[in-house]
Amino acid sequence: MAFRGKNAVVTGGAGGIGLQVARQLLVAGVAKLAIIDIQDNLEEFVKLRAAHPTQSVMIIKMDVANKKGVEATYEEIKKTFGNIDIVVNVAGIFNDKDVQRTLLVNLGGIINSTLSALQYMSKENGGNGGLVLNMSSVVGLDPMFIIPVYGATKAGIINFTRCLGNDKFYQRSGIKFATVCPGATMTDMFTNFTEKIIFPETSDETYKILDRLSKQSATDVARCMLNVLEKEKNGAVYVIEGKRIIPLEIKPLWTGKEPAV
Ligand code: NAD
Ligand code: MG
Repeated sequence: MAFRGKNAVVTGGAGGIGLQVARQLLVAGVAKLAIIDIQDNLEEFVKLRAAHPTQSVMIIKMDVANKKGVEATYEEIKKTFGNIDIVVNVAGIFNDKDVQRTLLVNLGGIINSTLSALQYMSKENGGNGGLVLNMSSVVGLDPMFIIPVYGATKAGIINFTRCLGNDKFYQRSGIKFATVCPGATMTDMFTNFTEKIIFPETSDETYKILDRLSKQSATDVARCMLNVLEKEKNGAVYVIEGKRIIPLEIKPLWTGKEPAV
């Protein structure tokens, strides 16, 4: 997909990876950009607007876990933009001690934002179709014993997105879906890590694991995410590591052919 003239939405765009995605989408020429985030990072937003005076940057302070609020937010974006072409769902948290909140923000938030966006993007409802890119993590693929709750939400995001990323749905809606699974990235997400894990007795080990991880920059991850958007491969899942996107080959396990018992 060429970005020039398109309208995009980024959740979690006030910080970390999401902010870099927002910035790079503007550099790539999107016409209108909406950022949905629970925090308002005014300083960064002033900079974004100053760097891109001819493009519109709309900022909506909203919790992605709030289903009604997210629906109203998309209604507002649709009214203001006229059209939505690209949605990048990045918002997420790490706090395994708060199970409810982790489920509602990480998995619930992606589902709320995706389903709300579909209504306005779908060709069935007069939209132009488009692309939805959802943020998972390598730990949604490879179990990491110290972060099972977070990992479960990230695994859920992969399945949710792959369900929608099928040809039948595409034929009706004109919308394609992809998932990215970055490895460890330098952001604020894992601040106070040992206070947010459910098995603190493993914290010594945890520190060692965290230290051992080589961390990529949010800028490099965002660049890879734009690359994934350009590929427009419906249903695809990519690992992002070392400035590269690595497409996963996931073969169906269930054949539906087992004999009746
Ligand atoms: P971050 O904390 O720097 O940024 C997260 C952004 O999401 C922030 O701007 C935050 O305000 C926003 N946000 C949090 N809760 C929200 C909510 N309820 N509603 C709306 N916005 C909300 O973290 P990050 O590392 O940039 O993480 C971004 C995404 O990337 C997350 O989904 C995370 O799980 C995923 N990820 C991160 C890493 C990593 O190592 N940092 C690796 C793989 C995947
Ligand atoms: Mg972010």
